[in-house]
Amino acid sequence: MGDAQASQSPGLIHKYHGRILIITTGACAIHCRYCFRREFPYSDNSANRSQIANIQQYLADNPDVTEAILSGGDPLTLSDSKFQHLFDSLSDNQQIKRIRIHTRLPIVLPNRITKHLLSTFKSSTKKVVMVIHANHPNELNDEVEDALLALKNIGVTLLNQTVLLKKVNDNASTLTQLSTRLFECHTLPYYLHLLDKVNGAMHFDSSTHHAHAIYAQIQKQLPGYLVPKLVQEEAGKPHKTMLQTNY
Ligand code: SF4
Repeated sequence: MGDAQASQSPGLIHKYHGRILIITTGACAIHCRYCFRREFPYSDNSANRSQIANIQQYLADNPDVTEAILSGGDPLTLSDSKFQHLFDSLSDNQQIKRIRIHTRLPIVLPNRITKHLLSTFKSSTKKVVMVIHANHPNELNDEVEDALLALKNIGVTLLNQTVLLKKVNDNASTLTQLSTRLFECHTLPYYLHLLDKVNGAMHFDSSTHHAHAIYAQIQKQLPGYLVPKLVQEEAGKPHKTMLQTNY
């Protein structure tokens, strides 16, 4: 996906204009079979405490960067203290306007949204965006809803990304229910990704033709603000590729 080419220093990827992505850890609560970082060399490429000075220097050298994305693995697998140290170092940087966290923890372990974590976010002067990852409405139970409500109540912007998975969610009914349930959980649908070409995951591959057919149906059934963007990640591109969706 072009991570290696866009790597600037251990754990620091600069792929898209104005945003840097920080690989905080290789740990994840799920280890999805379709994860495009399954073979990412995390041991040499994670931003531990010793890399924070490098990140700050990179920001100083690149004043057009205004958003930091914490990714992994999953950044919320870090302990509260480790996470806070990294988050606060970015929060203290005047150049950074938004801090985005990509995580699946609120879905699979809603207790991870601790009071300590909420106070870390609340004390920040930056806009905090959390992009969760739910593929099916059945993932969004009452505990998940409560965790997302707690985040919303302190001003965190909540977005969701979904991967289109054959025989899991590749039908209009499931995706429509997912969008409406996400909205009940205070979260807007953001991206619907076509599956990345990952070894051992092709049984999840739903054809592009089928994706277009489903997408045409959900566009008819949902208000525009509940329709995620249909995208594909392509190495070397300056942004995600939006698939043609005028039917
Ligand atoms: S939750 Fe995200 S980072 Fe973790 S394995 Fe799945 S796709 Fe990869």
